[in-house]
Amino acid sequence: HPVLRARGLTVSYGGFTALDGVDLDLAAGRITAVVGPNGAGKSTLFHCLAGTLRPDAGRIAVGGRDVTRLPAHARTRLGVARTFQRLAVFPTLTVAENVRVGAEQGHVVDPAAVERALRLLRLDGAVRARPAAGLPTGTLRRVELARALAGSPRVLLLDEPAAGLDTDEVAALARVLGALAADGTALLVVEHDLDLVAGLADTVHVMTAGRIVSSGPAGEVLGRP
Ligand code: ADP
Ligand code: ADP
Repeated sequence: HPVLRARGLTVSYGGFTALDGVDLDLAAGRITAVVGPNGAGKSTLFHCLAGTLRPDAGRIAVGGRDVTRLPAHARTRLGVARTFQRLAVFPTLTVAENVRVGAEQGHVVDPAAVERALRLLRLDGAVRARPAAGLPTGTLRRVELARALAGSPRVLLLDEPAAGLDTDEVAALARVLGALAADGTALLVVEHDLDLVAGLADTVHVMTAGRIVSSGPAGEVLGRP
C-alpha cells in the first residue's frame, strides 16, 4: 500500500488547466521523481500534495486517511514534510535553532530527532552554532532538509533539491536521500536536474501539459543507466 496516494488531481487557473487528472503513489522506502519542462504543472502538483493548494478535483490520502481538505500544517502533523525551493531559513537564528524551529512547526518537538537530522546532514559540528545568514547555498540547503527531517516524516516532498548545488553537493544530497529511503521514508523529488533523478529515483514520472505522459524505472524513462 502506498503511504501517499493521489488520484485524479486537477487544478485550473481561470480557464487554464495546469493539472489534468494526475494519479501518483508514494511508497515507503522508495524515491519517486516527477520531471518535465517548465510549465508542465510540477509545482502545481507539489503544492497539492503539500497542502498549500486545494485541487479543483481529485483525492489525496496519507496512510489511508483522506487529507484532500487538510491544510499544510495538518498534513505536517500526519507525517508529510516538505522542503522549499526558495530557502526559508531564519537568518538570525543559528543552524541548530533553525532545525529545532522546523520541528516545532511540525508540532513534534523531539530533541533526539533534531540531533539525528543535524548529524545526517553533518551540521552537528561548529556550524550548528553559526547564524544562518551568510552561510553558503549548499549549507543552507542542508539546513532546509534537516528542518524537514526534524519531525521524522514518513513522506518527504522535495522541491528541486539540487537547485544551486555543485556536483559534489548533489552527490552528497543523493547519499542522504538514499539513506532516508533505506530507512523507510517515502520520497518525492520534483526536479529539473535529470542527472540527480537518473542516479537516484526508483520510479520517474514525466509530466507535460498537466498530465503524466510516461512512467517507469529511471533508466527506462530517461534512457540512461
Ligand atoms: P512547472 O512547475 O512544471 O514549471 P507550474 O505548476 O508552475 O509548472 O505551472 C503549470 C502551468 O500553470 C504553467 O503554464 C503556469 O504558467 C501556470 N500557472 C502556475 N501558477 C499559476 C497561477 N497562480 N495563475 C495562473 N497560472 C498559473
Ligand atoms: P563530505 O565531503 O563529507 O560529503 P560535505 O560538506 O560536502 O562533506 O557534506 C557533508 C554531508 O552533508 C554529506 O556527506 C551529506 O551527508 C550531506 N550533504 C551535503 N550537501 C548536501 C545537500 N545539498 N543536501 C543534503 N545533504 C547534503
